[in-house]
Amino acid sequence: MTRSIILCLTSSLLSSIHAAAPSGPNIVFFFSDDHAAQSIGAYGSKIGRTPNIDRLAREGALFENCFCVNSICVPSRACVLTGLYSHTNGVRTNADALPKGAVTFPRILRDAGYTTAIIGKWHLQTEPEGFDHWSVLPGQGAYFDPAMIEDGVRRKCPGYVSEVITEKAVAWLKARDRSKPFCLLVQHKAPHANWEVGPRERPMFEGEMIPEPENLRDDFAGRTEAVRSHRLFVGRPQWELHFKKRFGDIPADVPEPDVRGWVYQKYIRDYLRCAASVDAGVGQILDYLESDRLTDKTLVIYSSDQGFFLGEHGLYDKRLMYEESIRMPLVVRWPGVTRAGTRIGEMALNVDFAPTLIDVGGANAPGGLHGRSLAPLLRGERPGDWRTAFYYRFYEEAYGIGPIEGVRTMTHKLIRYGFADRGAEMYDLRTDPKEMRNLISDPSAAAVSVEMSKELARLRDQLGAPGL
Ligand code: CA
Repeated sequence: MTRSIILCLTSSLLSSIHAAAPSGPNIVFFFSDDHAAQSIGAYGSKIGRTPNIDRLAREGALFENCFCVNSICVPSRACVLTGLYSHTNGVRTNADALPKGAVTFPRILRDAGYTTAIIGKWHLQTEPEGFDHWSVLPGQGAYFDPAMIEDGVRRKCPGYVSEVITEKAVAWLKARDRSKPFCLLVQHKAPHANWEVGPRERPMFEGEMIPEPENLRDDFAGRTEAVRSHRLFVGRPQWELHFKKRFGDIPADVPEPDVRGWVYQKYIRDYLRCAASVDAGVGQILDYLESDRLTDKTLVIYSSDQGFFLGEHGLYDKRLMYEESIRMPLVVRWPGVTRAGTRIGEMALNVDFAPTLIDVGGANAPGGLHGRSLAPLLRGERPGDWRTAFYYRFYEEAYGIGPIEGVRTMTHKLIRYGFADRGAEMYDLRTDPKEMRNLISDPSAAAVSVEMSKELARLRDQLGAPGL
């Protein structure tokens, strides 16, 4: 009897010693939905107000070229969790579920001795796995008084969704198992459509005219029919889909030529207000880390599942392969490792997040991941063999947009459309960063076009991805 108690104690002591083994820092992973880099102050935005994300960038590193490999919510989340492209992780469209038992970075960190939690938007259809605690919005979730499923139990949570998520995250941090390092995912619904503004942000931007992007009225001259033929334009289509139910018709006294600009003002103010609620939540959690003396021991990341059009090319939403859609904000503060104010120009991808966090946590990544740890870049190293191009593949068919594939290098982009006119576009990002001059039929760019097609095929073959 005594002997078995001793054995029992010994093994529990051993397992607690093993559990305390991870030497990596705590991790707070802020992940929002549809938060465009061009609306974040640290990325040079003149319109967004994001003082807390900006503070993270000042105190850490900002990735200038982070992209998603499939610009849509659920697939990008699956890429982030698994480190794999969509055709391999099984989540190609918003309708696909993350397979049960999928190997994800939270699961690996938990197995390595971290205590793990996710609070907020999950959106991967199946119940979260690999977490000691989970409290997630069902599906897209609601902005006001959201239901949340907490470790399998559905509860109504009064309040504004960004504040509810932040409060729950702080409560978990306070009550966490302090014998282990933690990995906490704080995943916001905002600023996803339908941009329902919280009480604290309602007065922001009131009476202000927000500057329009210079190509809000892009006429798509020289571009493909594919990018003209869908329904994701700022103006009447956006109003009908997202605002009409709550706000009624566009007033009859808005002249037709002014409709796009008028809707843009409504859209951008509400979008920026929703994003500000996420930023406020970041600030509250940074304050909590400080009060619990965790700042120096905690790696903090801010990112979002993809980019978003804020009126560029007259568009809203994502999906397309233009810069505003595929660019993800990525800011990392890693005290004692990353020099404050670092800007990293190397190309990072959403499939890099999992290998990075597994690496930071001192665990072993499974073989065959498509992504690569960003930790060397965060330590100030510049690996000579870092990627200079990536393959993009979008699968979903909705709103008149269908499959897309393409390649982006550090200087050029080739896009092939698998719908409408099945056309192609190529841009020189050095001379045309707004992607207004399609060079696909330009004789002066013929040689580059051939090289880009070869690079696309090479990367596609390397990944084993299905072509269009
Ligand atoms: Ca999204």
